[in-house]
Order: sequence, then C-alpha cells, then structure tokens
Amino acid sequence: MCVICDEVEPTTLLEQLISHGILIETGVDGIYGRSGAFEDVIARFEDLVTRTGASGANPGVPEVIRFPPAMNRFHFERSGYMKSFPQLAGTVHAFMGDDRGHFELLDKLQNNEDWTGQQKTTGVVLTPAACYTLYPIVAKRGPLKAEGALFDLQSYCFRHEPSKDPARMQMFRMREFVRFGKPRQVQEFRAGWLENGETMMKKLGVPIHVDLANDPFFGRSGRMLKNNQRDQGLKFEMLIPIESEEKPTACLSFNYHQDHFGTTWGLIDADGETAHTACVGFGLERVALALFKHHGFDVEAWPKAVRKVLWQ
Ligand code: ATP
Ligand code: ZN
Ligand code: MG
Repeated sequence: MCVICDEVEPTTLLEQLISHGILIETGVDGIYGRSGAFEDVIARFEDLVTRTGASGANPGVPEVIRFPPAMNRFHFERSGYMKSFPQLAGTVHAFMGDDRGHFELLDKLQNNEDWTGQQKTTGVVLTPAACYTLYPIVAKRGPLKAEGALFDLQSYCFRHEPSKDPARMQMFRMREFVRFGKPRQVQEFRAGWLENGETMMKKLGVPIHVDLANDPFFGRSGRMLKNNQRDQGLKFEMLIPIESEEKPTACLSFNYHQDHFGTTWGLIDADGETAHTACVGFGLERVALALFKHHGFDVEAWPKAVRKVLWQ
C-alpha cells in the first residue's frame, strides 16, 4: 500500500507490466495492447532470429511468407486440430440474417440476453499456430525439390487459454521456421536450431533450460498421444522463468512432426515418398517478457552486452 495515495502497489508481474505501460489492459485476460518499447524489443529480437537463421547450417535462404491471423476453415478441419486441441480453438462466426433477424438480435442485446444464437460459421477460423496455414499451400505446389524446402513465417495466433499469467496470452505472435524434406534433412534442421537457439538465447542473458515436452492433447485419448510424443522425443522446449521460478515458461519450441502433416496433406518429396516436416517456433511475446522480467522495465538500463546483441 502506498502511504501517500492509499493505492495498492503492483505485486504480480502482470500488474507491474501494466503499471509501467508495457502492456495495456483491455478488460480481457490474455488480450493486451503493447507499448512502443515492447514492440521495439520484439522487432529487434525478430532481427536476431533472422540473422541467426542466415548464419546456421540451414539450406539456403528461407522463403518468407506472412499470413493474416486467420486461416481457411476447411484446411483447419483437415489438419486435425479439433481432434487434438478443441479446447484452444477459436472460430469466426458472423451474422448472416435478414432485417427481422437483426431486429431480434438488437432486442436480445438490449435485454442483456444471449444474442449470439444467429451467428453462423464463416469460412475462416483464427490461426492456432503459424505453420498450420502453410502445409496445404506447399502440398498444392507439387513434389519437393531434392533439397526439400524451408519457410520463414510469423503470425498472430489465437488460443483460448485466458490467464492472469502475462506469458499465457490468448493472442500472441509466433515466428516459425518450417522445414520440409527427408527424415534426415528435417531432423538435422531441428538439431541445428536446438544448438543455434541455445547460443542465441544465452547472448540475451536470460536463464535457459531445454527439456523434452508434449503438447496439451485433449481428453483421455490425448494421454496416449502425450506419452508417444515424449517417448519419441518429438517436442523440445526452451524454458525461461517468467511468471514463476518453479514452472518456467516455454519460449522456444522445436517440433518434429514425422510424416503427420505429410500424410494429412499428401506432401511428396523428390523421390515420391511422403515428406517429413519439423518446425521451430519462437514465442515473441514470451521472449520479450523474459527480457523485461530479467533485465528490468527500462530497456535503456538493460545490460550493455544484451543491448549490443539486440540493437547492434
Ligand atoms: P505451453 O506448454 O506453455 O502451453 P505450447 O506447448 O502450447 O506452450 P507451442 O504450441 O509449441 O507452445 O507454441 C509455440 C510457441 O508459442 C511456444 O514455444 C511459446 O513460446 C508460444 N506460445 C504458446 N502458447 C502461448 C500463449 N498462450 N501465450 C504466449 N505465447 C505462447
Ligand atoms: Zn509449427
Ligand atoms: Mg499451450
């Protein structure tokens, strides 16, 4: 409590970020405005990711594509997202009624009743992970070249997981590199990024720890999928303490999908075999939050070495 004005001083990380104007409240947990300083950190970090990608052992220059944060509903349905993560999905609905329907809608709104009954599904859903939009597009281009393919994506993503933890947002950005090719090519890509990602993050002066992980597959059948994913070492995360020391937050993830998307979308490699895929995801808000948490709320006062890496 402040002795002068009687106001309660911010205690949680979220309250501190808000009081420093780094995140701006909207009244919904997990939906925030971002300050110019926060966005500058994200832009500088994205530049570091681009530079690291260009210096690694990856094949050539990635093809850069930026999609809006919504995707084709039919592609989303075929991707199997609703089978694995129905609890996280966000679908876009819109009013498609007539004058009478509009009148009823306004009447319900006026009376604080549920007015959403007339909202109908549209052809779009919110993007749940940056790479989901890509697979059908690459499949449509035909068989891969012998060297496979590499893409550089970035998108706002939606996941319905409202939380007071500022690192668990409902809309956040994911930068991704996605590799298509033979199992060996794809595995080398992931191994390379596990190494390069660690070197890159160490330069930012934040405590990191890489661990085996699993996705939050839904329900009883999901339990088996989680175990399989762990047993086969398909997902690794780079964790950094943000909201809690005991439960650090996944800021980067390194995923090997084997032939999952290849089979789903009919992705074919240069030899006519089903292509394998892997992606490396950088949680941009989480990385920025980790930097603010560990180096303070004033970017000008961050350690010189860290500032040099980002604002070189
Ligand atoms: P978690 O286990 O913390 O829920 P995740 O396994 O769902 O993370 P991925 O599906 O691998 O994460 O997503 C790729 C990256 O996107 C993560 O490494 C993380 O940095 C970021 N991310 C995921 N969910 C959120 C969220 N709710 N808010 C902010 N960033 C997120
Ligand atoms: Zn991905
Ligand atoms: Mg998650």
